[in-house]
Amino acid sequence: MIEFSYQPATRLSDAEREAALVDPGFGKVFTDHMVSISWSREEGWHDAKVMPYGPISMDPAASVLHYGQEIFEGIKAYRHPNGDIVTFRPEANARRLNESAARLALPELPEELFVRAIEELVRVDEQWVPKNEDQSLYLRPFMISDESFLGVRAAEKARFLVIASPAGPYFTGGVKPVSIWLSTDLARAGRGGTGAAKCGGNYAASLLPTRVAQQNGCAQVLFTDTATEDQIDELGGMNLFLVRNDGSLITPALNGNILDGITRRSLIQLAKDRGLTVDEREVTVSEWREGAANGTITESFACGTAAVITPIGALKSEAGTIVDFGDAAPGALTMSLREELTGIQFGTVADPHNWVHQIVAANGATA
Ligand SMILES: *Cc1c(COP(=O)(O)O)cnc(C)c1O
Repeated sequence: MIEFSYQPATRLSDAEREAALVDPGFGKVFTDHMVSISWSREEGWHDAKVMPYGPISMDPAASVLHYGQEIFEGIKAYRHPNGDIVTFRPEANARRLNESAARLALPELPEELFVRAIEELVRVDEQWVPKNEDQSLYLRPFMISDESFLGVRAAEKARFLVIASPAGPYFTGGVKPVSIWLSTDLARAGRGGTGAAKCGGNYAASLLPTRVAQQNGCAQVLFTDTATEDQIDELGGMNLFLVRNDGSLITPALNGNILDGITRRSLIQLAKDRGLTVDEREVTVSEWREGAANGTITESFACGTAAVITPIGALKSEAGTIVDFGDAAPGALTMSLREELTGIQFGTVADPHNWVHQIVAANGATA
């Protein structure tokens, strides 16, 4: 068992922290500490520490800066009404990090070390977990290759870090449907590529089409396969669901290009718990367009840890509006699944699958 060393940070004062927590937005404010664990081929994982949040130094020849060997995760800590601080399915993030690591030729991190790292950071920066409704502490675990070497091969040295950032509600003033943009000529992933890995490179590939989307008044990009430009994969950072008029759901099957979202998996389970049918299969833009036009597809939403569920009001492309739900968005099932999942996370709805993982107990003891 690796021991964590502790280098205390100079903390913000209570007043400064409270001010930072009033309207933190997303990914702008960071807590006092971070976690770092090093890896080398000879030593394995070592030098685990909780240390002051701050710049990391590395050699300009560090391979991540040249060849992009980087993977990450996104997970939140929530404060329950009884004062407990919890996180959600951390072992699923630990497993997924290792799947990403395998694809990017990075070392695997023992799952219990991933969970420990999150627990250590949340405990030391416990006061940063927001008390306001709908706010949470977003945790960003990530791994980079930091070996100084310009040769092109998998790095022999790596570093795993966790930083934390208080996050306000994704939607201020109520959940609003967004428009999304169909990207045809630009892709984020292709057959045999890294689409199923949570790596920075996939995001780099999505930024130009995302800018095009924003220039067209859309919040995010919908990616299809590159061959037919019709088969739907997912959005740049969220999975997609369609709802049919019989209450069943459709979501693209994991096909090697799609990120296996934990929100996606959780929603599939919650829908099945309600007795609803969830079809994980190939879905096309044509099916969505025709279904929305003839009334068989009545709702659509995107899902991921940051925004949980984002209702989709319209799908647009260079050719014009493909789908427009108008006043019918957000749909009723979309919103009720959203309420159920956020209720489990925030401790106001029962947790039948034991997804919630306690980190700090209200009585001050650590779990
Ligand atoms: C992280 C991510 C998701 C959502 O995954 P969650 O585990 O639900 O947060 C979906 N698509 C992509 C490309 C992602 O990187």
